[in-house]
Formats: sequence, C-alpha cells, structure tokens
Amino acid sequence: MDKNHFICLGECEGVSGLPGVCQAPDCSHFEQKLVECNCADGDHRVVRTEPEDAVEE
Ligand SMILES: [Zn+2]
Ligand SMILES: [Zn+2]
Repeated sequence: MDKNHFICLGECEGVSGLPGVCQAPDCSHFEQKLVECNCADGDHRVVRTEPEDAVEE
C-alpha cells in the first residue's frame, strides 16, 4: 500500500483505491465521503488522528 487510497472513518474501516462514499449500510459513516490517505503501512493513522494544535513532525 504505497499510494493514495481512500478510507472510511467509520467502523467498517473500508478502503478504496478510488474516491467515493462508504458503502456499508451498517456503518455510522454510510454514504459519507471517503477520506484520502497516503500512508505506506496501512495504518491510516494520519487521518484517524485528530490534529492537536499545530503539532507537526
Ligand atoms: Zn464505513
Ligand atoms: Zn492509509
């Protein structure tokens, strides 16, 4: 997983190679837009972690 992908932030943890919306009817984020992610390890922590102030690494 070394290029951009799109993930659902809901509990379905859906991952797609294309932009779109969550397609899991029982997910709290159903039909909400997927979020772009470019992590290399599949951890998706970049978008799952809420930004705190302006901390950058
Ligand atoms: Zn979902
Ligand atoms: Zn990711």
